[in-house]
Amino acid sequence: MTASDKKPPVIQCPSAQPTNPGAVVFGVVTGTTESPRIGYLTEAQPVTESLLALAGQANPGQVFRAASPCAGGGCKHFDGTDCRLATRIAQFLDPVVNSLPACEIRPTCRWFRQEGRVACLRCPQVVTEVCTTDEYRRWIADPESVAGTSDKSENISSGP
Ligand code: SF4
Repeated sequence: MTASDKKPPVIQCPSAQPTNPGAVVFGVVTGTTESPRIGYLTEAQPVTESLLALAGQANPGQVFRAASPCAGGGCKHFDGTDCRLATRIAQFLDPVVNSLPACEIRPTCRWFRQEGRVACLRCPQVVTEVCTTDEYRRWIADPESVAGTSDKSENISSGP
């Protein structure tokens, strides 16, 4: 095999639904609904039925952080160049840690590749299926989920 035969790494979305094809769980949600914190696993785990069952009555996306191959243009957050979710996280959330979390998926993480350590210092507060009633955080997760606020960034100049 030559160097040119090597395939580029598959870039991972770090806030994927755990039920996505090829997903691995790399973190578990701890903390509270309004102040969640991710506990990063020392080893990412392939998703199995028994792992998903650990979510109990909750949806797996409320309990786990999972990574799966970035869908690129198939994802509403992707603008053809960047992941706009990563951009919003970097621009509108405050950092919650001072150093890079010990994260197993960093070498292939879309957010890290795009935003660098700025994304990692904010990442531990991100829950894939947002449960908070905080409209600001819901807007960061998905502007379309907050009625009439598709361009709320113009009205928001500081953090939550
Ligand atoms: S942004 Fe950083 S901490 Fe979060 S999943 Fe990506 S590499 Fe890990």
